[in-house]
Amino acid sequence: MCKKFNGIGASNGIALAKVYILKEEPIIIKDEETKNIDEEISLINSSIEKAKKDLENLKNIAKDKLGEEKAAIFEAHASILEDPVMSEEFVSLIKHKKYSASKSISEVANKYIEMFKAMDDQYFQERAADIKDVTERLLRYVLKLTVLDLATINEEVVIVAEDLTPSQTAQLNPLFVKGFACNVGGRTSHAAIMARSLEIPAVLGLKDILSKVKPNDIIAINGSNGDVELNPEDKKTWENLSNAFKQEKEELKKMKDQPTLTKDGYDKFILEANIGSPKDVEGVLENGAEGIGLFRSEFLYMDNDHFPTEEEQFNSYKEVVEKMNNKLVVIRTLDIGGDKKLSYFNFPSEMNPFLGYRAIRFTLDRKDIFRDQIRALLRASAYGHLGIMFPMIATIDEFLAAKDFTLECKKELEKEGHKIGKNLEIGMMVEIPAAAVNAENFAKHADFFSIGTNDLIQYSMAADRMSENVAYLYQPYNPSILNLIKMTIDGGHKHNRWVGMCGEMAGEPNALPLLMGLGLDAYSMSATSVLKARSIMSKLTLKDTQELSEKALKCDKTDDVLKLVKDLMDKSL
Ligand code: PEP
Ligand code: MG
Repeated sequence: MCKKFNGIGASNGIALAKVYILKEEPIIIKDEETKNIDEEISLINSSIEKAKKDLENLKNIAKDKLGEEKAAIFEAHASILEDPVMSEEFVSLIKHKKYSASKSISEVANKYIEMFKAMDDQYFQERAADIKDVTERLLRYVLKLTVLDLATINEEVVIVAEDLTPSQTAQLNPLFVKGFACNVGGRTSHAAIMARSLEIPAVLGLKDILSKVKPNDIIAINGSNGDVELNPEDKKTWENLSNAFKQEKEELKKMKDQPTLTKDGYDKFILEANIGSPKDVEGVLENGAEGIGLFRSEFLYMDNDHFPTEEEQFNSYKEVVEKMNNKLVVIRTLDIGGDKKLSYFNFPSEMNPFLGYRAIRFTLDRKDIFRDQIRALLRASAYGHLGIMFPMIATIDEFLAAKDFTLECKKELEKEGHKIGKNLEIGMMVEIPAAAVNAENFAKHADFFSIGTNDLIQYSMAADRMSENVAYLYQPYNPSILNLIKMTIDGGHKHNRWVGMCGEMAGEPNALPLLMGLGLDAYSMSATSVLKARSIMSKLTLKDTQELSEKALKCDKTDDVLKLVKDLMDKSL
């Protein structure tokens, strides 16, 4: 049956393929006495074999995609399954306490998880996450539940899910995963950001798409306008759309080596890209970006089973800085918390994690973790042009604490004989309204600002960026937001600081004329948006954009601003 839906277009492009339903049933352990001891023991043994086979498979895939070091984690997981002490404990509980296979696994697993978690040593605390991961896989086999491994997908599909966590998104292979459609999320959720960096079309916030799809359905998605169709009758129309999208992309490639210039020749604006891993640098260069305005370092932490060491981080940062060949690379320090979790660290549970213990609040509290990152960044600064950026700064005291700590680490490193980059910059995200309002004073201390509109809008509108129910409040064009942006730019410029933007707004075609008119210096976006931005800028004059933003700041509401933008775009493009 053909059905149409509309959600939030989160990553441009068209996909038409079979559905891959990502739905994991919950693991429920029943408290029943076992009737057949031998059957339960053989169930455990056969499940261990299946889980081991999976891990071998995952290890080989990871080896090809991510390298030996990352693949080693699956070897470590397999060794947990091979541990004779643990399997003897499973068997003993079945034999002596008449536990079912699932109950015995769950009991033994919980015992070890709690034991490791309680240890002081971070290494052992992290092993708790490994045991949880492995024993859950085992339980899924014992309970005959589906076991889903996104990395093993080997046919063309569109993933349909409730949501995709950042680490699930990181496992996707764009060769086979042609797109995804999720019940929740919006343009600024991390699944969306990852989709754009992987160039996978995505539609989010579809509310109940997951309950509507059946295995073997065909799904078509339009990541630009949020249209979704299940089992489309008219496949030709979708194919035409897909071809038109590809053609525009080809056309824009001509802008790759062009300078970024307005129609009237202003050449000071810079177009940069956002990345999540060193792998993304290739896309940055292919799309003609002039620098990296935001490297979200948290993905190095999320895509791992332990806090990355100074050396591991240094290697990643150095790789990026070197590949960018003296172009500015802004690396944001760990922005964890909120929807970004770590499998190996338990954040305290809070009523409002987005407003809680996260980002700079966490790293200033955990200097042991912060030190490794700052030292790695400072060492990498010797290989090019690096900017260190602190996330979620609300007060000048926080910024100064982070900056002073960085300067302390710098002294320490110099004493040890390390070189530090001469043109290192230390700046901050402006993504909390309190920082935007106080920008002029922050600018006395910070070398640069980068406006994080994803959070700035979330906190200004008091609207959770993950919730599709309040997605209408994500209003970059609201005059209140434009005024906060203006305060930040003007505050920075008063002290001769450059001001950039790395929130998703920077890459929205309609936002460009407003931001140009407000005097924003650097525009950092998904690499795939850079060429379109360059093309749009080349068709606008600085004078027109200044007149536009002056009027926009005085508007009452979003629609009035959008009308002004539309008039200018219709006249210019
Ligand atoms: C932002 O908040 O705009 C931003 C760029 O950071 P993130 O999306 O990673 O929170
Ligand atoms: Mg943010």
